[in-house]
Amino acid sequence: MTEDLLEKLKTEKALTREEYLLLIRNREETGNGERISDRAAELAACVRDEIYGKKVYIRGLIEFTNYCKNNCYYCGIRAGNAKAERYRLMPDEILSCADSGYELGFRTFVLQGGEDPYYTDEILTSIVRKIKEKYPDCAVTLSVGERPYESYKKLKEAGADRYLLRHETVNRKHYAKLHPEEMSWEHRMQCLRDLKELGFQTGAGFMVGSPGQTEEDLADELLFLRELRPEMVGIGPFIPHQDTPFGSREQGSAKLTLFLLSLIRLTLPDVLLPATTALGTIDPMGREKGILSGANVLMPNLSPVNVRGKYLLYDNKICTGEEAAQCIECLKRRIEKTGCTIVTDRGDHKVL
Ligand code: SAH
Repeated sequence: MTEDLLEKLKTEKALTREEYLLLIRNREETGNGERISDRAAELAACVRDEIYGKKVYIRGLIEFTNYCKNNCYYCGIRAGNAKAERYRLMPDEILSCADSGYELGFRTFVLQGGEDPYYTDEILTSIVRKIKEKYPDCAVTLSVGERPYESYKKLKEAGADRYLLRHETVNRKHYAKLHPEEMSWEHRMQCLRDLKELGFQTGAGFMVGSPGQTEEDLADELLFLRELRPEMVGIGPFIPHQDTPFGSREQGSAKLTLFLLSLIRLTLPDVLLPATTALGTIDPMGREKGILSGANVLMPNLSPVNVRGKYLLYDNKICTGEEAAQCIECLKRRIEKTGCTIVTDRGDHKVL
C-alpha cells in the first residue's frame, strides 16, 4: 500500500525511484482513512521535533545586489531584464543591516545577491570579516552563486560559515532548458562539491514546478539529496516573473511543495529546511503550512525598505513594504499558531 511507503521512508530514510513516484502520484489519495500528504506532514513534523524540537530558526536575509551577469530564463533579476531597477548595497549599508538585525535578535545573516562582479573577493571577504569581527556569535551565510574554488576558499577563510547554492534541477537536460548555453549543470554541481569540501555548511535545492520538470525529476531530486547530504535544502514553487522568457508559464503548486518538504525531512531528518518566501507568496498561509509539513527555518528580509521592492526574482513577492521589525512580529504571531516557537540562536546543523 502506498501509505506504508511513508513509514518505510521514515524508518529507512530512503525509497526507490519507483516508490517515490508512487508517493508523488498518489499524494492526494486516502490510505488508512487519511490523505497521504497529510500523513507525510505529520510524520515529517514528528521527525523534525525529535531532532530540533518545536523550534523554528530565523535567518536575516540581506539582499545586497540585484545586478546579475547571468540570464537564467526564470529569474526576474536576469541580466537581460532591462526593466529591473538595479541597486547595490555598499559595505557600510550591509553592516548596518546586520546591526539592526542583531538588535532584533538575529544570529545568522544571509547575504544573497545576483552574480555581481562588483563584489570581488577582496570586497566580499572584507564584508564577511567585518560582520564576523563585530558579531563573533553570529553565523554568516553567503548565497552569491557560482565562483571559483579559490574564491570560495577565501570567503571561508574570511569566516563565512554557510553557503546556499541551489542546484535548480538534478536533470542535466532540464537544466539546459532553464538556462542559456553558457551556464552548465556540471559547473553548478562542481561548485556544490567545492563548497562541501571547503567545509561550508552547504545548502542545495530546486524550484518545484519549474517549466519542463517531471514527476520523475522530483523522484530523482529526493534520491540525489540523500546522496549529497547537504546541511540545508531550499525549495520553493516556481513563480513566473512577467519580464522573463518564462513570464507566461504556469506557477508551481504549493501543495506539491509542501509534500516535497515532508519527504525531504523524512529522507534527511536533520536537515535545516526553510519555508520560503516563494511558498508564502503563492499561498497566504504557505510558510505556516511549510512549518507544519516539517520545515524549521524562516528567512525574513533585513534589506533596507527602499530596495526591498527591487529584489524581485518573481512576481507578487510578499513582505516588500514592511520594516524588518514588523516582519518579525508578524512571523512570530503566525508561527505561534502552528505550535512552534521562533528561536534566535544560530541554529547550526545538528549531526546525528
Ligand atoms: N544568484 C544566487 C542567489 C540568488 S537566486 C544564485 O544563483 O544562487 C536564489 C534562488 O531563487 C535561485 O536559486 C532560484 O531557485 C530561486 N528563484 C529564482 N527565480 C525564481 C522564480 N521565478 N520563482 C521561484 N524561485 C526563483
